[in-house]
Amino acid sequence: MIDLIEKLAQSIDSADDSKKLTGALRDFFIKNFKVNRFDVFVIDKKNNTVKDLSKDWINPNSDNITEINKNTVNNLKTTKYLTDYKNSLEYALTKNGDLIGFIRINGGNSDRLIEFLQTASFIISIKIQNILLAESMQKNIDFYELMRNIAKIIETQYELNYVVPLIGEMIDKFMPDYLIYIFIKNNSKMELIWPSNCKDPTILAEIKKLQDKYDYNIIKSQSTILFPLVNENTLLGCIAAKSMGTEFNETDINYLEQLAKQSSSTINRAIVYAEILKHATMDALTGFYNRHQLEERIKQETSKAKRQNTPLCVIMTDIDFFKRVNDTYGHAAGDLVLQTVSKTIRSKLREYDIAGRYGGEEFALLLPNTRTEEAIMVAERLRKAVENKKVDFSKINSEKTNATINVTISSGIYEFKKSDTSDDLLKKADKALYEAKESGRNRIVVNKDEQK
Ligand code: GH3
Ligand code: MG
Ligand code: MG
Repeated sequence: MIDLIEKLAQSIDSADDSKKLTGALRDFFIKNFKVNRFDVFVIDKKNNTVKDLSKDWINPNSDNITEINKNTVNNLKTTKYLTDYKNSLEYALTKNGDLIGFIRINGGNSDRLIEFLQTASFIISIKIQNILLAESMQKNIDFYELMRNIAKIIETQYELNYVVPLIGEMIDKFMPDYLIYIFIKNNSKMELIWPSNCKDPTILAEIKKLQDKYDYNIIKSQSTILFPLVNENTLLGCIAAKSMGTEFNETDINYLEQLAKQSSSTINRAIVYAEILKHATMDALTGFYNRHQLEERIKQETSKAKRQNTPLCVIMTDIDFFKRVNDTYGHAAGDLVLQTVSKTIRSKLREYDIAGRYGGEEFALLLPNTRTEEAIMVAERLRKAVENKKVDFSKINSEKTNATINVTISSGIYEFKKSDTSDDLLKKADKALYEAKESGRNRIVVNKDEQK
């Protein structure tokens, strides 16, 4: 028996999350006790539920075992083990005499199992407590990190069309058991900004109600909760969360509520900044013209090209797989990539070329006095320069600090025609950019088929 206890301790030693622990325990009992089934259930005092440790804890009610588990919990308060449920052995897991969960085993020799569990149950209980504590601590650390990141977005971004999806992606990643939607109020209508569509009738109906009459409340409806985004009594929008299970977990609601508040403040600041920065010219992160100024410059350059009958090309450039950089190395690393790429681009342009940040990781480069053939050469020069540029993350405070990565860009080129409006210019270059992406990335495509 002592040998087996040692073996058990060894086999669960390296398990560092609940799934791995359940897996290791299962393997151990199948191998050494020839059991058919092995499950661990943990009592969640906060929600007054019993959860299967091996599952993601999404849906405690799904397998209809809750009632049985409640009985088990009640009975195990007064005895160490039970054998009355479907020939299974249910053994209590305790902490300082309090029941924290239980093991349910089918098959195997129950006398041998009971003898073993008298000692083993302590080892298992301690391991479970440690893992649950570590998991909740890690979740808290991730939460504060996320709160900080949401607050920080505003340092580099103020366009709602980019800020909101960034927030959406971050919250989505943090709350994998929920579907997250973000709506922003625009001219008294709630518009879905992230993700690109929502077909959920409950959410759509609740959102509609919210836009008509608002007072700050978390709105719960079936498996959906709405967290209004507000600033000083003004409704800015709403974050909707849909649980993939049937029940909401109080901890998750608290997290979401805090995240919604933080998002409100970032979104509100983005709105205010956008208004102020309309009058500014430069994008803070890249040093390129900002979107608003870029549009002004396009108007000027297109009318000049028309008037003076000179050629004008635009290159739309977008970083390839940029989302992966953010996902793998964090947002700060993503920002550094943006800075490095924009610097590299600027260094390869002529002084009178105009570089603008169209949004996110997409740049529009205006090349006055330039024909398609030359623009292709410029774009190719940029493509090579970016491809060869190493971005060094050692400067920033990320987990993977000594990483160096390379990124690539795709570009779409379009040469201005007299019949084009200034809007056409970017649209047509963007079409070519789309083709460059579709056909494999790290390449250049010219839009030639728009000639009139
Ligand atoms: P593709 O090759 O098709 O362009 O893939 P992609 O991943 O680059 O494209 P996608 O448009 O899906 O992702 C762009 C990402 O850029 C999404 C957003 O998280 C990120 N992003 C936008 N603005 C910023 C910013 O200012 N800083 C950082 N770090 N990320 C940003
Ligand atoms: Mg991209
Ligand atoms: Mg993009």
